[in-house]
Amino acid sequence: MQLQPSPAAAPHAAHLFDMPSRHSATNPPLAVVTGGAGFIGSHLCERLIESGWHVTVLDDLSTGHTANLQRLLGHPRFVFLHGDVTQRLPLALATAHRFYNLACPASPAQYQQRPVQTTLTSLVGTWQLLALAQASGARVLQASTSEVYGDPREHPQRENYRGHVNPIGPRACYDEGKRCAETLCFAFHRQHAVPIRIARVFNTYGPRLRPGDGRVVSNFIAQALRGEPLTVYGNGQQTRSFCYVDDTLEALTRLMESDVEGPLNIGNPEEHSVLDLAERVLRLTGSRSRLEHRPLPADDPHRRCPDIGRTSRHLHWRPRVALDDGLRETIRFIRHELAH
Ligand code: UDP
Repeated sequence: MQLQPSPAAAPHAAHLFDMPSRHSATNPPLAVVTGGAGFIGSHLCERLIESGWHVTVLDDLSTGHTANLQRLLGHPRFVFLHGDVTQRLPLALATAHRFYNLACPASPAQYQQRPVQTTLTSLVGTWQLLALAQASGARVLQASTSEVYGDPREHPQRENYRGHVNPIGPRACYDEGKRCAETLCFAFHRQHAVPIRIARVFNTYGPRLRPGDGRVVSNFIAQALRGEPLTVYGNGQQTRSFCYVDDTLEALTRLMESDVEGPLNIGNPEEHSVLDLAERVLRLTGSRSRLEHRPLPADDPHRRCPDIGRTSRHLHWRPRVALDDGLRETIRFIRHELAH
């Protein structure tokens, strides 16, 4: 059986299905991870299973891979559902205690290929989960993004910075979709007391980044290992701060179980230029690839670095994994992927 709130029904989402009682169903409780077959999502599922949760994944596999869930498929507390958060939601989601909403392509190359779906995934998908949560009492963690700050004019970015986003540019499908998803979360929270948590996730890297996904870390490593030129967009002086996936997960799960709604920045406050990253990748892979400059994509943010003061205070968290160590793990994974 399938569920789908209609726009008219959203304020009365409790009528969408028969709830036996709020949170009565599974013991241990159920966490739903949308986008759970993706890079961060699949690591999150493993962590939740290790912590004793039942875990159900909803993923349309548009950018995720069931290979990421290899360790979990067949586990008695794990269920994979192939489906799209913008379509009718499976009834199984109605008993969830926690929704981790990670559904959305995150690589600029991928989300710009299907801008309509990208926008709707954040809007309709988040709306549907919030409507379910309104009915069930579940808590919703929205995986938001540093992209809500756009091409920022303040450094480092604090959560109270309102951003500098082009609403009609090529990145808008992602940026504005995620901004509006935050708006929806707070709207449901204010109007219907839905428990929400907002995580603004900055660039994250680690094993399960796919060689062909277009992001800078996976591109550079795959290019270096293949002996191809590393494609540096623009002059390479633009910066990012790269957080290892284990550190990101620790913050996400702490935020979910905290009493802070957020938004909280989740990222590594160490800022690196793209050129610096290229040099590290060459050094760590031992590659003799050269650098090849390509045009800077439109609206590419010039600087990005999180202020994590608020996150550290609330979650007692700081990233632990040094960039070279995390890159070594990522290189190991991508080397293996390329060999098979
Ligand atoms: N970038 C690059 N070469 C690549 C891929 C990306 O120089 O092959 C740059 C890109 O222009 C951006 C940064 O690396 O400035 C990070 O890009 P990514 O696509 O990983 O994510 P973003 O942070 O832009 O969402």
